Amino acid sequence: MEENCIFCKIVNKEIPSTIVYEDEYVCAFKDLNPIAPVHVLVIPKIHIQDLEHITQDNIEYVKHIHSAFKKVSQIMGVNETGYRVICNCGEDGGQEVKHLHYHLIGGKKLGNKIAHE
Ligand code: 5GP
Ligand code: ZN
Repeated sequence: MEENCIFCKIVNKEIPSTIVYEDEYVCAFKDLNPIAPVHVLVIPKIHIQDLEHITQDNIEYVKHIHSAFKKVSQIMGVNETGYRVICNCGEDGGQEVKHLHYHLIGGKKLGNKIAHE
């Protein structure tokens, strides 16, 4: 638990969110400002800042995030139509919330594969 981290507060249910899936390691909830009909954030239940802060000590959480994608895609009904997973890292990556999170986006045909501008 990192003080002043909104995603830690979501994990601890200190601020409300629409959780669609959770287990011991992972919490998945709807993005506040969705960019597609399905836009879920999948995060570890411990505070990991970003991809650069993954270590042997917290890799178990990352493994569970990767296992959770297909559970979330099923729950959200996009497992057959497909979806995209995006993880922004650091300043140039445009990461706004400094708690590792993966955007799972779908529910429509998505445009540009890689946003570079
Ligand atoms: P980033 O730009 O860091 O990759 O993405 C942060 C995402 O978190 C944004 O898509 C933003 O809409 C979402 N977000 C920020 N604050 C909240 C919040 O309090 N609740 C929820 N559900 N999503 C949030
Ligand atoms: Zn956090």
